[in-house]
Order: sequence, then structure tokens, then C-alpha cells
Amino acid sequence: MRQLTYLEGGGVEWRDADEPRLQGDCEALVRPVAVATCDLDLWITRGRIPVGGSLPAGHEGVAEVVETGEAVAGVQPGDLVSVPFQVACGECATCAGGHTGNCERVGRMATYGIPIGENYGGFLSDTVRVPFADAMLLPIGEGVAPAAVASLSDNIPDAWRAVGPQLEANPGAEVLICAGAGSIAVYAAAIALALGASRVDFAGGEAGERARAGELGANLLDAEFPERLGPYPVVVDHSAVHEGLACALRSTAPDGTCTITAIYFEPSSPVPLLEMYTKGVQVATGRVHARPAMEPVLELVRDGRLRPERVTAETAAWEDAPDAVAGHEGKLVVTRA
Ligand SMILES: [Zn+2]
Ligand SMILES: [Zn+2]
Repeated sequence: MRQLTYLEGGGVEWRDADEPRLQGDCEALVRPVAVATCDLDLWITRGRIPVGGSLPAGHEGVAEVVETGEAVAGVQPGDLVSVPFQVACGECATCAGGHTGNCERVGRMATYGIPIGENYGGFLSDTVRVPFADAMLLPIGEGVAPAAVASLSDNIPDAWRAVGPQLEANPGAEVLICAGAGSIAVYAAAIALALGASRVDFAGGEAGERARAGELGANLLDAEFPERLGPYPVVVDHSAVHEGLACALRSTAPDGTCTITAIYFEPSSPVPLLEMYTKGVQVATGRVHARPAMEPVLELVRDGRLRPERVTAETAAWEDAPDAVAGHEGKLVVTRA
């Protein structure tokens, strides 16, 4: 089968790969129909993360179930499902606690589209094997367009975890988002507004993301980060630059939360730990545990309160995926019939 592949040293093209087969009763084979780029893909195509060896592309998407093992009960061929980017059993103690990103039955950080440990392939492929079909696959249901929820596998729940539980604990709170490149900051703005934040301030970010956040109802602040803003009880840092991180941490109100969705590959500049200590700032970072967070997000989409397609910057046909992925500047959704 064909599999879109990032090449060592840059570039992306279709490569032949082995067609996956069922390896157990609890597995499913799915055919991706709408695949989104993750914010991490932007870092890869811009050369900020070197690709060592070839790397299968794509780990956010909606797929059609094509074959299921005998023990699979929750989905059947023909169903349209969101496939979480993390491979997880759903049954071990860690998964049962909602921490599916650290499932005990698979290798550390087992994911699609990112070759850490076992290679599960990428979603820009003809067929994808899902090892724990009932635990992983989430049917999107009728009335939801696959392209609209292509990022339900990763970036949208990543944004939700930074504002959703926080706004539930603190209804109507004001939210600050320190944005950088990529979609998660915009999803966070959209979700915060959908959940009743009284104000969503959006600092930093690239032109496209700022425009989309503004259209969604966020209040645009400067593209440059000042030393501090606010304070805000709910803060999200997706800037991936030290000035953005420091601004986010200083702008967090006493006993407020700052969730860092950005990935800092380089050592960070000193964080304002004394100020954070005296204010009791709660900081969270790490990968989203995607599967449990996908359900409340899908609920918002089904209710019509969240329209993720408004965050999509570009769309492309499946055949055009190599050029579209190589040159994308914002959230890209690749679809096929
Ligand atoms: Zn991702
Ligand atoms: Zn598990």
C-alpha cells in the first residue's frame, strides 16, 4: 500500500509499505478518509525537528472501519470513527485512570505517525491497524462531517484539556492564550468560548491563527509578548518561545492554572518560580491523554457549540497530499471519498 512518508533531510512523498493485517481478535483495520496535520507536523516540515530515517506521516484522522476481529463489539465495518493518535489498551490500571497516553501494555509513547518504539504507521495510508479497537475507536456518529473532526484524534482534545476542566471548576473565568505556530491555541480559544469563558484574550501567534481566533470571538492582543498580562485564572501556553512561556506563567492568577501545550525541545529559560510559588500557580505540561478527552469534545461538536472546521486553514485532496503537507502553514485537512 501507499504511505505518505517524511524523508530524512526533508521532503515528503508516497512510499510503499506493507499492508497491515489483523494480528488478534480485538483489532480492527481502518481506512482513513479525513486526515489532519498536527501542530507537530508544522515543526517537521519547517525543519525545526530533524527527521531521522523515514517517518510515516499523519496521526490525526477519521477513518472507515473495514475489518474487525471476532472479539470486537463496539464498531463494525462501515462505521466512521475517530482514531486516537496514542495506542492504548483501555484496560490496564493506567488507562482505567484516564491516562491512556501511558498505557502499560504498549511501548512508552506508542503513537501513530511518530516512530517512537514500535512503528504503527501513519494515517496518510491506505490501511491502518488498530490494536485495541473497542477501547480506542470512537464512532463520530451521524451528522458530523469527517473533515470537521479530523483533529479530534489529538490537537482538539489537547486544547480541551487546557481549558475545559478549568472552566468547569471556575465557570465564566477569563482565559489567556499565549499562541505560537499551529492550531491548538485557536482550538483552545474556540472551546473556551463554547464553554462560557467571559473573555478569551489571545496573545502572540502567527497571522493566520490570529485571524481565525479573532473571527471566532477571541480578543486579539499584541503579537509580541509583554512581560505580563492579566492576571487570568486560566492560562494556556502554546507559544513554544521563552517570552511566551514566561508571560503565560507571570500572567497566571493566584491559584490559577497554566497548561503548557507547547513542546520545548530546547532547554527553557529560567521560569519565574518564586512568583509562581508565592501565587500558588498550578502548572501542567505533557501530552494530552487523548482518548478520554475526545468524548467531551465530540459532544460539543454534536451540540453545535464547537465548529472545528472554522480552525481549518487549508484542505487538499488525497492525491495532492505530498505537496499539501510539505507546504502547509496552518491546520491542513486531507480528504478522500
Ligand atoms: Zn500530534
Ligand atoms: Zn492500557
